Amino acid sequence: MTTSRITTIFWDIGGVLLTNGWDREQRAGVVARFGLDAAEFAERHKLAVPELELGRMDLDAYLTQTVFYTSRDFTRDQFCEAMHQQSQPHPETLALARGLAGRYRQYSLNNEGRDLNTYRVATYQLDAFLLGLFTSCYLGMMKPNPAIYRTALDLAGVRPEQAVMIDDRAQNAEAARSVGMHAVQYESAEQLRAALAALGVQ
Ligand SMILES: [Mg+2]
Repeated sequence: MTTSRITTIFWDIGGVLLTNGWDREQRAGVVARFGLDAAEFAERHKLAVPELELGRMDLDAYLTQTVFYTSRDFTRDQFCEAMHQQSQPHPETLALARGLAGRYRQYSLNNEGRDLNTYRVATYQLDAFLLGLFTSCYLGMMKPNPAIYRTALDLAGVRPEQAVMIDDRAQNAEAARSVGMHAVQYESAEQLRAALAALGVQ
């Protein structure tokens, strides 16, 4: 009989450690700022974003299809800068994660495109406590597909009962539980600290 002490933490990034990267509210702000047609952008985004987040399309191609398919009075750099500005830290949650480093193995398990993921990890030094990045763009799978959780567990070399997934979306937390992991649906740093303590993680 093996123990089920939690040794490993898998973090969602958007909406947990940081604000979302390029979700509905970030897109709406940038689309308004550059005066894009919101409905047309939304339609083009919807077609392109799965390929972006699965790592099969780079940000340049995504922007060509969703924004720069016609002439604009702003540049790609200006648009990317505005995208980047949407990524802001959740300082209390980052402090909690940093405090767990050394005693727990921590990885990301997140859906994001390669370019934005790289920017966010570097800007907020997430690699200071994340030992690896299990991101949709590298694995070619996305949450909430149970397969990505199983792959992350395999790559980390842990059994599901030794791991906890922290995610702000109920469906993603449920999918983690469906493969036998513990899961916390993130609401705030304070709520997360208490939920982890209840699992013996502190
Ligand atoms: Mg999230």
